[in-house]
Amino acid sequence: MKAIYPGSFDPITCGHLDIIERATKVFEHVIVAVALNMEKQPLFTVEERVALLKQACGHLKNVTVDCFEGLTVDYARAQGAKVIIRSLRAVSDFEYELQMALMNKRLNPDVETLFMMTSAEYSFLSSSLVKELACLGTSIRGLVPECVEEQIFAKIGCEGREAEK
Ligand code: ADP
Repeated sequence: MKAIYPGSFDPITCGHLDIIERATKVFEHVIVAVALNMEKQPLFTVEERVALLKQACGHLKNVTVDCFEGLTVDYARAQGAKVIIRSLRAVSDFEYELQMALMNKRLNPDVETLFMMTSAEYSFLSSSLVKELACLGTSIRGLVPECVEEQIFAKIGCEGREAEK
């Protein structure tokens, strides 16, 4: 069975990668899809986020990376995927995720949203926190794939005071 894992991925973190790796063991094929979200002001362009995801997921044979605009359920249908994967870190994620899952169900009852729990070691991790740390020149090693670590400091034009530690 094919599943899509949609998100902003601005940028991909080790928390996302952990979910993707675990999802590849459950589904035959996982499409990681960068969603264009007009409300957010991203650090990385869609093309950059797709490129980082491709690098980070290069070792996973049953993963493809893509981007899309519009409704997630429409994209899922176009890809022939019946499952949307989302993940939960804390209770605070629940309300938003429930709302999205119920709306998507209403929009297309044939597409099921399945939730995976974060691994404990990444439960505090978010793309926004990583960006904040990087802006402050703090090391983000172990929080993001290596390719992201290099790109993020290049992007914000900061050496990363402790980035090499
Ligand atoms: P969105 O803007 O759609 O929420 P994100 O890139 O922030 O996109 O997240 C995509 C999905 O990954 C969401 O379901 C989110 O809850 C989940 N996620 C984000 N960070 C982590 C993490 N550290 N561990 C597990 N899941 C995460």
